[in-house]
Amino acid sequence: MLPYSTIGEAESALNRTLTFPETLWFNYSANKSDYFLYCHNILFLFVIFSLIPIPLVVAEVLRAANVERYKIQPKVRLSFSEIITCYKTVMKMFFFVVGPLQLVSYPSVQLIGIRTGLPLPSGWEMLIQLAVYFIVEDYTNYWVHRFLHCKWGYEKIHKVHHEYTAPIGFAAPYAHWAEILILGIPSFLGPAMVPGHMITFWSWIALRQIEAIETHSGYDFPWSPTKYIPFYGGAEYHDYHHYVGGQSQSNFASVFTYCDYIYGTDKGFRYQKKLLAKIIGFDWKKFHSGSFMYSISRKLDEGLNTFKMQKIGQTFLCLRDEKISRAQTTFLFWKQRCKVRWDAFVESHSSLLIRSVQAHRRRDKIMSLKDENGVWASDQAGISSLLEKHFATLYNCHGSSAPPTSCQWDDLEIPTLS
Ligand SMILES: [Zn+2]
Ligand SMILES: [Zn+2]
Repeated sequence: MLPYSTIGEAESALNRTLTFPETLWFNYSANKSDYFLYCHNILFLFVIFSLIPIPLVVAEVLRAANVERYKIQPKVRLSFSEIITCYKTVMKMFFFVVGPLQLVSYPSVQLIGIRTGLPLPSGWEMLIQLAVYFIVEDYTNYWVHRFLHCKWGYEKIHKVHHEYTAPIGFAAPYAHWAEILILGIPSFLGPAMVPGHMITFWSWIALRQIEAIETHSGYDFPWSPTKYIPFYGGAEYHDYHHYVGGQSQSNFASVFTYCDYIYGTDKGFRYQKKLLAKIIGFDWKKFHSGSFMYSISRKLDEGLNTFKMQKIGQTFLCLRDEKISRAQTTFLFWKQRCKVRWDAFVESHSSLLIRSVQAHRRRDKIMSLKDENGVWASDQAGISSLLEKHFATLYNCHGSSAPPTSCQWDDLEIPTLS
């Protein structure tokens, strides 16, 4: 609620005439309580979640040819009833968790000092604050999401969000209620650090949800304006995280790509992109637009140069299977050796773990050795003599075992010079 009853009062308090947006804000908010203004978020969230995904959901159902080519996983399709089920579940969560959370979180908004009065923030002020909110949320969300991929977090909470291996816009907030509560914290952290105006806060909540819907849309459009945002992940980036599923140790960040790059958790994604680019070939990409997987399925489906294509398809599957089985073996090996979790799938080169193993090896020393009589030698001379003795007998054919009585040269089938 504004502390002025007329525009004149507001202008004399500000010592200038109100701008057009300020006049609009005055007319709208002058008699409304701050709590009521804050609760507008519920309406915005409801409208955004219900309306923004609709165009691509319609395209998904109609299989519109010009949109189809940009589908990231063209082979995976949801039926209309499945889409409606997803929407209903999300709306249930919205009414029972997101809405009530907004209603009760007002004291925290008061505490951090979100203002509703005049003057309104400038465009630049809003832009900088929104950038801070996105960066803070992205960083915090990265670690929370990474934690949710530990065995306990995934099984108990995060598994629900990964039910969609090829997500759609409606599935953006599809998650366990606990995840929605936990991920509310990163969203509040930015505004708590740099509190701004209620309009900035509304814009933040709205933009963050639109961004989440876009990254879960299942379509990657090359002409999307978000492509011009530096380090922006987008739909293809997060879709890979869902595509790999529960095993995923890749692409944890919600908005930008730099956290995954810095902490080495985008190796699977980068490997896959490189591999797909190799399979599709540069010529194909030059003349055909669309997502990687679309290009591959088109390439295989159209039967162009059938034999060659089949071979490429098989090579891709073999390579993928081989990579997965190798990663699984590596995973088991390191799990036993190091007693720590090792990255699954193709992200099997954690520099941190390699460094820790090397450090262990450097530190590990032989403190004592036991001879064949069971007597321990702990001094350096004793250990050295035991080692020497061991290697001396290891390669000695004249030890306790009897030497070969005769050489069966004929059995060796040595090639002759004749
Ligand atoms: Zn995840
Ligand atoms: Zn997701």
